[in-house]
Amino acid sequence: MTENLQNTTFPTTNAEQYEAARSVMPGGVNSPVRAFGSVGGTPRTMVKAAGPYLTDVEGTEYVDLVCSWGPMLLGHNHPAVVEAVHRAVDAGLSFGASTPDEARLGRLIMDRVPVEHVRMVSTGTEATMTAIRLARGATGRNLVVKFAGCYHGHSDGLLAAAGSGLATQSLPGSAGVTEAQAAETLVLPYNDRAALEAAFAQHGERIAAVITEAAPCNMGVVTPEDGFNLFLRQITQDHGALLIWDEVLTGFRASDTGYWGLSGRLEGWTPDLWTFGKVIGGGLPTAAVAGRAEHMDLLAPLGPVYQAGTLSGNPVAMASGLATLENATAEVYETIGRRSEQLESMLVDALNAEGVDHSIQRAGTLFSVAFGTSENGVHNYADAQGQEAFRYGPFFHAMLEHGVYLPPSVFEAWFVSAAHDDAAMERIGAALPHAAKAAAAAQA
Ligand SMILES: *Cc1c(COP(=O)(O)O)cnc(C)c1O
Repeated sequence: MTENLQNTTFPTTNAEQYEAARSVMPGGVNSPVRAFGSVGGTPRTMVKAAGPYLTDVEGTEYVDLVCSWGPMLLGHNHPAVVEAVHRAVDAGLSFGASTPDEARLGRLIMDRVPVEHVRMVSTGTEATMTAIRLARGATGRNLVVKFAGCYHGHSDGLLAAAGSGLATQSLPGSAGVTEAQAAETLVLPYNDRAALEAAFAQHGERIAAVITEAAPCNMGVVTPEDGFNLFLRQITQDHGALLIWDEVLTGFRASDTGYWGLSGRLEGWTPDLWTFGKVIGGGLPTAAVAGRAEHMDLLAPLGPVYQAGTLSGNPVAMASGLATLENATAEVYETIGRRSEQLESMLVDALNAEGVDHSIQRAGTLFSVAFGTSENGVHNYADAQGQEAFRYGPFFHAMLEHGVYLPPSVFEAWFVSAAHDDAAMERIGAALPHAAKAAAAAQA
């Protein structure tokens, strides 16, 4: 209805935008975590981003602590990334054939972590889905072990107890996933070695892979206990199963070599298959599955495991990812680490000043807060769900009112970028005492 479209006047407030969005998209969003389901209120409709800031449709500016859920490592609209994308756009949007930057981006990943081959896909969901298929193809086995509260994208078999998006809406899993698919996924509590030993004792010969977030960040951050990831490496190896190491969120963010740089690298081991996403696209849709040639070469066209994508390795996304990783220098990681620690200590001071019980969980440059958990901390999904989540909505809205955009769910990490400067930190520092007061006053 072209005529109608031409007559549409664009709404100018967040409330009007949200209403317009709800008339088109289920829940007014294209990804559930964007809705303010658990915090209430009107979602902000964003129109502009620069450095550490987002601007909504009403012209209100926020310090952004979501960073597009991770990709914006360098901050929004980093000049080198924008220039690279402009150049790529001028050269052509998509060729449906190989381009030089695909191998270049793959090389940059291979320079940072010990993988031999890389296949680009468009989303983290595709990357983990492909890794699972590869593991089944390589082992001839069916079962996959995942941990409650870990999120690996929304493919059918991986949606059991899948962390933030579902936790925010109190969903145990997803409708539309068949019993057969669910039955092939064993869901175990995180950080629980005895549960793994029992699962392998009972089903060892049928387990194709254990898939884990390198450090869980989708039930809030949960720090892997000392030696837990090493234990995963050993028990999978002992039983001929693969270890799928999901670094879609932590990859090239938790450290320059991802969370692996803080665990496997120090302990002298590597997983079998890796998945990346978020940072490697620098804000455009790109993800990857990677590993040793013996596994990766099972993929079509070399091998029998099929996988494909019309826009895989898209040249504009490759340019964005390349420019992001090329500019992700030691200094960038030093800045992000320092800002993240500064943010944590400002948060802790503000909460302590109001007597708000909490614990902080950290994984490299990533951290999150959990309310009412100071006694035992958060070690698994049950701990995360047992927290005083009701304190987060008022905390979140006080931050929002004072110009800081946090993830609209307590089950998420806080993301900083290299563009978070003193001015941005000061604005956060001014907002935190109001938010801590709101959290202290919150009623269950
Ligand atoms: C975001 C995420 C995914 C899914 O990536 P999409 O690009 O959203 O499909 C998978 N695994 C982890 C650990 C993630 O954080």
